[in-house]
Amino acid sequence: MIIAIDGPAGAGKGTLARRLAAHFRFAYLDTGLLYRAVGRAVLDKGAAPEDPAQATRAAEALDPAALDGPALRSEDTAQAASKVSAIPSVRAALLAFQRRFAQTPPGGAKGAVLDGRDVGTVVCPAADVKLFLTATPEVRAERRVKELQERGLEAIYARVLQDMNERDARDQARALAPLTPAKDALVLDTSTLDADAVFERALRHIASLNSA
Ligand code: C5P
Repeated sequence: MIIAIDGPAGAGKGTLARRLAAHFRFAYLDTGLLYRAVGRAVLDKGAAPEDPAQATRAAEALDPAALDGPALRSEDTAQAASKVSAIPSVRAALLAFQRRFAQTPPGGAKGAVLDGRDVGTVVCPAADVKLFLTATPEVRAERRVKELQERGLEAIYARVLQDMNERDARDQARALAPLTPAKDALVLDTSTLDADAVFERALRHIASLNSA
């Protein structure tokens, strides 16, 4: 079973994905981390994230087993991720790994939960469950500020909101695999829902699909 969760930054995808993965004992892949790692690698080289040759080289050299570290969570990494992710050859280089993870989840898990921007539309268009989480930009920015502060990182609301709006606009406008709900996705506005309520709704949706 494959569960695809897409949506803009701060909509609650990661929290839901981790809870569903724990609940069903499925493997979990945060696909945004792949793009963040590519963006970070390009920045660390002193190159521009918009440079297709540098970004593609970084994507092809990426070790998906080594996706960790607070540097991947910073806002400059997020911006770089959203720039490299608009380059078709970068997306192509990361696609096979994501599909393999979904189809043959590590650790012998019986299913996988993937979250990102194009999991339900491009990576796993035949996913059993597709959820698209969204929320107002203000709510999402507030959540992101809290998350960054919990990680001990500095975060200013107005700056986070601006960065997020910029990133959303870029992710929605790109020609390849733009941020958009799959036609068969359940769209959930999480603006007024807490993590428990989102989890309950997702479980109810999955149960309704299974009984259909
Ligand atoms: O989800 P996260 O905020 O970590 O993603 C960082 C960036 O990576 C996004 O803004 C987006 O540009 C890109 N991304 C993508 N496709 C995905 C996941 C992330 O283009 N499936």
